[in-house]
Amino acid sequence: MDDTDAAPHWTPDDFRRYGHAAVEWAARYLETLEDRPVTSDVEPGWVRAQLPASPPDAPEDFAAVLADLDRVVTPALTHWQHPGWFAYFPTGASGPSVLADLISSTLGVQGMLWSTSPAVTELETHVLDWMAELLGLPDRFRSTGAGGGVIQDAASSATLCALIAARWRAAGDGPFDRLRVYASDQAHSSVEKAVRVAGLHPTQLRRIDVDDAYAARPDHLAELMAADAADGLVPALVVANLGTTSSTAIDPVAPMADVAAEHGAWLHVDGAHAGAHLLLPELRWIGEGLDRADSFCMNPHKRLLTNFDCDCFWVADRRPLVAALSVLPEYLRNAATESGAVIDYRDWQIPLGRRFRALKLWFVIRSYGAEGLRRHVRHQTALAQDLAARIAAHPRLELSAPHPLDLVCFHHVDGDEASEALLARLNATGRVFLTHTRLDGRFVLRASVGTQATEARHVDALWALIDALA
Ligand code: PLP
Repeated sequence: MDDTDAAPHWTPDDFRRYGHAAVEWAARYLETLEDRPVTSDVEPGWVRAQLPASPPDAPEDFAAVLADLDRVVTPALTHWQHPGWFAYFPTGASGPSVLADLISSTLGVQGMLWSTSPAVTELETHVLDWMAELLGLPDRFRSTGAGGGVIQDAASSATLCALIAARWRAAGDGPFDRLRVYASDQAHSSVEKAVRVAGLHPTQLRRIDVDDAYAARPDHLAELMAADAADGLVPALVVANLGTTSSTAIDPVAPMADVAAEHGAWLHVDGAHAGAHLLLPELRWIGEGLDRADSFCMNPHKRLLTNFDCDCFWVADRRPLVAALSVLPEYLRNAATESGAVIDYRDWQIPLGRRFRALKLWFVIRSYGAEGLRRHVRHQTALAQDLAARIAAHPRLELSAPHPLDLVCFHHVDGDEASEALLARLNATGRVFLTHTRLDGRFVLRASVGTQATEARHVDALWALIDALA
């Protein structure tokens, strides 16, 4: 037997040559990003129409594959890293993060068990402890005590894991029909999705009323929980928002923790986007009460220059999470696990397999330093505040909600139709992209500042467009 029939793998030299070409393509993409329209105008089906109906039989030249990025892919992209991106929330990216992902993919390791690559587990534990320090999180979330951190793919998974741990603490393996979950109607849709995925009925999710600033009302939470407890139901989980998706409203975590504690419910704090602002000492007030939360998550893949996917999820006590998610078949048994001296992150998440995601967070933290990360968040938060001041002073515009961080919600004084028309006109320029939400039933434009490329001149350009088109 010889290797005549082996697949046409690249040699390390091929990889080097094509890799340089791919990095050159990526650098050119970043250089030319600003000249492109932020969104694509292709018709549905356009991309597929450019592609051959069947896959190639013979190997193709890599140069032809790269060329098709320009022909087929980039014309049909929404450019999330564009400096005129003010939509949704930003999705993080930076040079160090991209290169870490390249290396992670090159290594191709699975970190499901400590023993399947000790570096994957230990670097992750360590970097999550670093993040806890950078964000000023309470010691209970550090791995040195009963708690610890893990990287999930997304905040939705973190919320699901929090619910599964809470469900375990409240009812073990079930039944679950008497459990109740509490979140405001401003909470992200992933809370309701977690409820469904965890086998609870959507009616087991109670909605907490919000105040004028769209923050959950602890007095209403107390009412809901007391009524449920009186009916023999079991309050299992409260989800507090550290920055809602619509308007970055900050729920009062400390009084919500009081109410949750009274009923023995798990308190999860969702800081998916806004949690990164805890980096700034002047904004630490948004995390007041976190020292009493059972779990907390934030996404470096939104605000912190780290490519999707990277959600940091911390628990104050890892035992319920691990107990709920640990299933150990014979083929995964190993001496390290049995020694009890290691973390096996497969027990902290839904899938078994896991990528080496800590690498990108490690590269980002080391390349920017704590000071560089703080400058990024502080500068862009200041740009958003500047934009808010200009909107507030405009005769035909009004701010729609408090804007403590990097998101500004606003509307046209002439009502929903005028606001919708303004959004359409702004996006039709191709130079900026904003999205909308509804607050109190009103149509509201959202300007979310935060890609790595967004500078003061881009926010000035956005303002000039808003002023001209409002
Ligand atoms: N929670 C909040 C407050 C969010 O704003 C978002 C997304 O914008 C999510 C959760 C879901 O994030 P992910 O895409 O990481 O699941």
